[in-house]
Amino acid sequence: MSAPIRRPQRKLTDEDFETINRAALLNLHGALIMGIVDPVPNPSPMSEAEGAWVREHVWPEHFREIDRKYPFGFQRWSMCERGTCWNCLNHRCDLCVHRQEGGPAVDDNTDWVWAPGGFALARLIVRPGGEPCVWWCRCPCPKTGEAPAKPERRRTVPQPAQELPPPRPAPAVTRRAPDTHPALFDVELMPQ
Ligand SMILES: [Zn+2]
Ligand SMILES: [Zn+2]
Repeated sequence: MSAPIRRPQRKLTDEDFETINRAALLNLHGALIMGIVDPVPNPSPMSEAEGAWVREHVWPEHFREIDRKYPFGFQRWSMCERGTCWNCLNHRCDLCVHRQEGGPAVDDNTDWVWAPGGFALARLIVRPGGEPCVWWCRCPCPKTGEAPAKPERRRTVPQPAQELPPPRPAPAVTRRAPDTHPALFDVELMPQ
């Protein structure tokens, strides 16, 4: 593959941040991992209103159900429309996901034919020519070469206490089996 294209980053507005803050935490984590907190739609012959009509009237309910839970939708984004990685959103460009991976995340050009109940029936090769659709974190930071400096952590230096109290004995720790956490992408387990 030739050098991946650097695509422009979306500037999130105050309204966008309000939308993001309304998402359930689990979905927000999913959106961060998938780079769809600040996605940028590709040019389309369909207007946004027409797209919304298709989602409302043509999409099956199980598509809409997942799409509604994410700040800017879920099913509608392809790999090349994804935005900034979670580390760069957190100003940790030294840990940019694609710097760490040494390259972009490449779509395997596969989609699925769905049955009405949401079960995948057959594999669909979307781009038989193999043209790559890639997610290459849109943050303008360099992805190769020397990593950008880690942001300085500001710490308040604690003042020494006049007289330290004697240490208390540590409370006895009762160990128990770890809780079973729901899988991150198990839609059935996601809060409404
Ligand atoms: Zn970055
Ligand atoms: Zn990044």
